[in-house]
Amino acid sequence: MVRTIELNKRQEQILEIVKENGPITGEQIADRLNLTRATLRPDLAILTMAGFLDARPRVGYFYTGKTGTQLLTESLTKIHVRDYQSIPVVISENVSVYDAIVTMFLEDVGTLFVSDHQGCLAGVLSRKDLLRASIGKQELSAIPVNIIMTRMPNITVCKKEDLLIEAAKKLIEKQIDALPIVKETDLGFEIVGRLTKTNITKAFVALVDED
Ligand code: ADP
Repeated sequence: MVRTIELNKRQEQILEIVKENGPITGEQIADRLNLTRATLRPDLAILTMAGFLDARPRVGYFYTGKTGTQLLTESLTKIHVRDYQSIPVVISENVSVYDAIVTMFLEDVGTLFVSDHQGCLAGVLSRKDLLRASIGKQELSAIPVNIIMTRMPNITVCKKEDLLIEAAKKLIEKQIDALPIVKETDLGFEIVGRLTKTNITKAFVALVDED
C-alpha cells in the first residue's frame, strides 16, 4: 500500500542519492552514507514497496519519479467494492414500517434494502425515511414499507467489480449513506451486498495502516 506517512531522514537521503545517481546499487548507496548494506536494507525495502524506488536485479535502484499523490491514486484504483463490502439487510416490501424500524435496530444498520416478491431490489429505506413516517399519527404496523421507501428505478447501485472510488463518488453526488451492491439478472437486480460510508472510511484508514 502507499506510504502516506512521513519518510524518515535516512529514507529521504536515500531518495536524493538515487534521484541524482540512479541506477545505483545498494552497496553504492551504503558507501555514500557510510553505512553497511545490512543497515540500509529495511529502508530500501520500504522505499521499494511504497513505490518510490524500483529495483532491477544486477542493475540497481531507480527513482520512479512518482509523487505521494500519484502513488495514492495508483493504490486507490486497485481497490474494488468487493474488497470492503458489508452484508446487506433485506426486508420484503409488505413488511410494516414498525417491523422495519425494529429490524434496523436489531441489525444495527442505517439503511435497509427492500426486495420484491421475486427477490429483486425494489426499494431503499434510510433512518430518516422511517423517522418521517413515524412523525404522523398513522399506525406504523399497518403501513407497508413500499408506501414510504425510495423505489426503483430511482435507486443508485454499484457492482462488486466497481472501483471503490467510483462508488464513493456516487455516495457524495447523491448525498446518500449506502449503496446496494447488485448483480444484474433477467428479473432485475439481485442484492448481493451493501456499501456504506463506513466501508469507505475503513478503506481510507487501511491505506495508511497496511503499510
Ligand atoms: P438519511 O435519510 O437517514 O439521512 P440517506 O442520506 O442515506 O439517509 O438517505 C437520504 C434519502 O435517499 C432517503 O430518502 C433514502 O431513501 C434515499 N436513498 C438512500 N440510499 C439510496 C440509494 N442507494 N439510491 C437512491 N436513494 C437512496
